[in-house]
Amino acid sequence: MTQPEPSPAPAHSRLTVLAGPTAVGKGTVTAYVREHHPEVWISVSVTTRKQRPGEIDGVHYHFVSDVEFDELVAGDELLEWAVVHKRARYGTPRKPVMEMLAQGRLALLEIDLQGARQVRERMPEARFVFLAPPSWDELIRRLVGRGTEDEAERERRLETARGELAAEAEFDATIVNHEIHAAAEQLIDLMRS
Ligand code: 5GP
Repeated sequence: MTQPEPSPAPAHSRLTVLAGPTAVGKGTVTAYVREHHPEVWISVSVTTRKQRPGEIDGVHYHFVSDVEFDELVAGDELLEWAVVHKRARYGTPRKPVMEMLAQGRLALLEIDLQGARQVRERMPEARFVFLAPPSWDELIRRLVGRGTEDEAERERRLETARGELAAEAEFDATIVNHEIHAAAEQLIDLMRS
């Protein structure tokens, strides 16, 4: 007698949310996944912040005006959104996430903690992964070493990071970012499990 097919995992369990303190390396881990694991679909956020040199509109972010962002919020087109570092707004377009999950793709959101909390309310079956720095000192070194922000901005980011570090307990799993490649592969293993 043939056994019934095991029922597929619920679509939302294929969604992984990666969050963690500022400058912990979420962007770099995500870039590694983009390059080495094309089977994983990575959400492209909308943001009102200015485009940085080297960033490509539609690849790293969809860069939008305040008015355009307002329209996305009013139309309920964002799965989550937040003001990050008290400056710019960032959000996850809902439709592509739903389409990818419906197709059975593994999907990854790299967002801040406020956004992760909103996704947990709407999709509690998703997997929530916290990327932690090897140490607080190391995090500060990365934050200051990046050199893309002025003093006031760095202080704002540190303040956000202190709150974010304390939030680790809310997550399903923690990955310590000792090394990008290892952290990214750990993330992929978690997503597949
Ligand atoms: P950056 O401006 O350096 O690219 O990103 C700043 C922060 O915004 C990062 O912590 C990143 O995780 C967060 N972020 C990026 N996209 C989104 C999003 O769609 N939603 C939320 N809530 N945060 C996001």
